[in-house]
Amino acid sequence: VSPGTPSKYYLTTPIYYVNDRPHIGHYYTTVAADVLARYHRLRGDDTFFLTGTDEHSLNVDRKAREEGVTTREFVDKMAPQWQETWAKLDISNDDFIRTTEERHKAGVLELVRRVRDAGDIFEGTYEGPYCVSCERFYLEKDLVDGRCPLHPSREIERVEERNFFFRLSAFGPRLREHIKAHPEFVQPEERRNEVLATIESGLEDFSISRESVKWGIPFPDDPTQVIYVWFDALTNYLTAVGYGTDEERFRHYWPANVHLIGKDILRFHAIYWPAMLLSAGLPLPKTVFAHGFLYFKGRKLSKSEGVMLSPFDLAAQLTPGSDEPSASGRDAARYLLLRHVPFGRDGDITYEALVDRYNADLANDFGNLASRTLKILKQYTDGVVPQPPAEVEARTEALHALVAEATTAFHAAMDDLDFSGALEQVWRLVGRANGYIEESRPWDLRKDPSREIALNLVLYNAAEMLRILTYLVSPFLPGAADELAKQLRVPRPMSVHKDGYTLDDVLSWGGLAAGHMTEVGPVLFPRLDKPVLTA
Ligand SMILES: [Zn+2]
Repeated sequence: VSPGTPSKYYLTTPIYYVNDRPHIGHYYTTVAADVLARYHRLRGDDTFFLTGTDEHSLNVDRKAREEGVTTREFVDKMAPQWQETWAKLDISNDDFIRTTEERHKAGVLELVRRVRDAGDIFEGTYEGPYCVSCERFYLEKDLVDGRCPLHPSREIERVEERNFFFRLSAFGPRLREHIKAHPEFVQPEERRNEVLATIESGLEDFSISRESVKWGIPFPDDPTQVIYVWFDALTNYLTAVGYGTDEERFRHYWPANVHLIGKDILRFHAIYWPAMLLSAGLPLPKTVFAHGFLYFKGRKLSKSEGVMLSPFDLAAQLTPGSDEPSASGRDAARYLLLRHVPFGRDGDITYEALVDRYNADLANDFGNLASRTLKILKQYTDGVVPQPPAEVEARTEALHALVAEATTAFHAAMDDLDFSGALEQVWRLVGRANGYIEESRPWDLRKDPSREIALNLVLYNAAEMLRILTYLVSPFLPGAADELAKQLRVPRPMSVHKDGYTLDDVLSWGGLAAGHMTEVGPVLFPRLDKPVLTA
């Protein structure tokens, strides 16, 4: 059952363009990261969960001018919308990095100097098709009908200027070797094959500075240039943990355990980024995990293409009887996105499917288990957990075995970032707990005073299953888990370690002592009766 000794766990989302509006695509990556972070904290790991904003973008500069404010004023106005969004959606990031911060600048300069000293930066002229939305040059062969493959609605621009370049072409063999020797480096496997194929087809040097742009970090020893996109943005993963400012802290957290990204930015994270790190003599992140796209009735969820849904709208629409997202609506949004589509694959989402799953999994299976268990306790024993018989009979033994088996499989799935697989294991237990109560018919046992011992056993086992489930669901359903911990009067999942327990302690059978008091509280997941979700 044990997930091993606690260790350091550093995980990141991409930094988001500060002038984007948080939409469900950003939310998807960030929720996955939050679930992982909460899980690792529960394990007792020294967890560091980073997200942030990318603020040195050409788009940002343009937008600020459109609004008639300085670029600095503009980003200072925009960045808090991200911080507030995540705070309101239960995202538990430990840090929020902005690329306009001094700590970031110091680390970026350090990295550029090291790569330059290694001989991997040279001067040249670049001319080519450039997409402002992607902030990158394209090769002619990558254009679709003369337009950016990701932003077909935007005009592609022609840009020519003196730049510094990074010698990516020199890193193909080392990257290939690393990826082959470390199958966990690029996940899932399909994406690894894609990266290897890109390396096989030959890597081209890329431009890392801009002469025409003023908004950015000035290039070391050449103030006519600013550092452009990749050496600025990707480097946030280093600077947030102290690169260039706090060597000791940096050595503690780096390398990252996982960079969570969408598959559209795989090339930059699995080729550009490790090449930059290799050049600087820095260790590579352990895993780059690229998740798939969510399609909303066949349309991709992104700003530029098709549908854009705000995560607040989703959570609000999963909240019965209110336009404000409740704790249950926020939990449901997290759960449904991660349960509905296996992480790593593309998936189609329909409103109807989300509502059906909400009612089936959350309102019926899990919510009902919680409320019936606590209500029965309240009604039969005034909320007191009874003393189970000392002798363990076969059905109880089977419950113990199932808990052990599902918990082990849950940990293995979480290690693989297989969130839907982990939830399947949890719902095996939810289903069995409900089945156990049905079969045991405590309402019949109660009518026969000679069956008191049998009744006590059923009540104890049901309460104990619910207690263990409280911790297993907590990374996914933090609001419900907190409420359940309150009703069961057991340590809150977020403070297990502060309260002096380990994850093994709280997941081990027998945590509830006879005589322990429980209480009945509000329903965790009220049924969604209306077809609430509308585009
Ligand atoms: Zn583009």
